[in-house]
Amino acid sequence: MTTPARKKEQYPVLVVGAGPVGLATALALRSFGAPVILLEAREADATRPGSRALYVHGESLRLLGLADPRLAADLSEHGILWTARRTLFRGREVYAKQYPRPRAGRPVPYTSLRQVDTEGFLRAACARAGVDIRWGSPVIRLDAADDEVTVEVESGRSFTTRYLIGADGPRSTIRRLAGIGMQGERSEGFHVTVDIADTGPDALPPERTFHYEHPGTDGRHLMHVPFPNGFQLDLQCRGSDRAEDFDSPEALARWLPKVVDGRYLESVLWTATYRFQRVVADSFVDPHGRILLVGEAAHLFPPLGARGMNSGFADGDEAARAVVLALAARSAGQADEAVRRFATTRRAAALRNSQAAGTALVHLQATRPILRTRQRTAAALAPWIPSCGTWLERAVYGPRRPATDTALAGRY
Ligand SMILES: Cc1cc2nc3c(=O)[nH]c(=O)nc-3n(C[C@H](O)[C@H](O)[C@H](O)COP(=O)(O)OP(=O)(O)OC[C@H]3O[C@@H](n4cnc5c(N)ncnc54)[C@H](O)[C@@H]3O)c2cc1C
Repeated sequence: MTTPARKKEQYPVLVVGAGPVGLATALALRSFGAPVILLEAREADATRPGSRALYVHGESLRLLGLADPRLAADLSEHGILWTARRTLFRGREVYAKQYPRPRAGRPVPYTSLRQVDTEGFLRAACARAGVDIRWGSPVIRLDAADDEVTVEVESGRSFTTRYLIGADGPRSTIRRLAGIGMQGERSEGFHVTVDIADTGPDALPPERTFHYEHPGTDGRHLMHVPFPNGFQLDLQCRGSDRAEDFDSPEALARWLPKVVDGRYLESVLWTATYRFQRVVADSFVDPHGRILLVGEAAHLFPPLGARGMNSGFADGDEAARAVVLALAARSAGQADEAVRRFATTRRAAALRNSQAAGTALVHLQATRPILRTRQRTAAALAPWIPSCGTWLERAVYGPRRPATDTALAGRY
């Protein structure tokens, strides 16, 4: 008895993973006229639990707007701008900056909205652009050669492509099957994020607050980030903490009323716990020059500084450009050069982001007594020397980086 041959479909480019980065990459490819298939493990209606990216950098809005101006407009209109940034130290304000309303008709400098909404707008833009998304299609096998890549999804269906862009997130199957390692560190600490709905006349003003050594959390740092009709609390836990003491409903009932009004316990939307990881792939392209890695498939940064999704958008844009150039190249050498240039540029950006995130993390965790002393001294001096307050506000995000690294820095 002969086994029926499996159906093999052939495409110029495949994207794997319909998180924000994969969706943005597919959209960029379509804007350059390339037909694109996007393979996603989840079903179309599956919700991803957990709170994630809020801050979309102005540079990201510009990039996404190049692919679809309506997308940038939707994100800007749905998202909010904060009216103030404040830094507190043990209950006392050490920095405050108010922001006027932006002038009508001017592009917004950033926008703040929940990742689930960002992904919704990206999905709508992909639908408008004709991206063919195959939901419920987890990639389980991969075979790369010098001139093509074949992947197999769980149903047994195979897809063959000239270029494959892996946007399948932190546990990337594509990266693993391509044999590409990751280097970096997983830090001791973790953070607990809680998304809270907040609407109506009693809603808090949309101000972002970073509170060092919050008295209501036994001295752990707490950040409050507004989004439309709500806010996110981000509690920085210590290496010696146990997650269940902070993220369970009972634990929330203990600490949340000490940092916001107790009524918010009824409005919790999501709670999630994340470990701090700072890792970058050894290469953003496989040895055959056919598989490109973007977003968290290629790098993971601690979230402060808003580097994850935002730099993923820049990866995706450059990967799309590289693949379009490679597909149109007159020689294999030219095609290879386009892909390798993407890999070198974006890996260098990831390493710079990783370093900046590392600097921010050292500041946040302040495990050495000298660092804690420096922060406490700056807080004590801030009423007389405003630059001390400014330093406390900015150091949380790490050093600022050129806009070409996208989003990177200190303006969270
Ligand atoms: C608390 C928190 C706050 C954050 N804040 C910010 C912020 O303000 N700004 C910012 O820029 N970043 C922020 N980030 C980071 C941001 O959330 C991530 O960088 C972003 O989700 C990464 O997007 P991605 O598309 O690369 O990966 P993911 O979002 O992980 O998407 C990967 C997709 O691939 C799919 N997939 C996985 N395996 C397969 C497979 N084998 N086959 C097919 N599909 C597969 C998954 O189902 C998923 O849909 C934050 C993160 C956290 C945790």
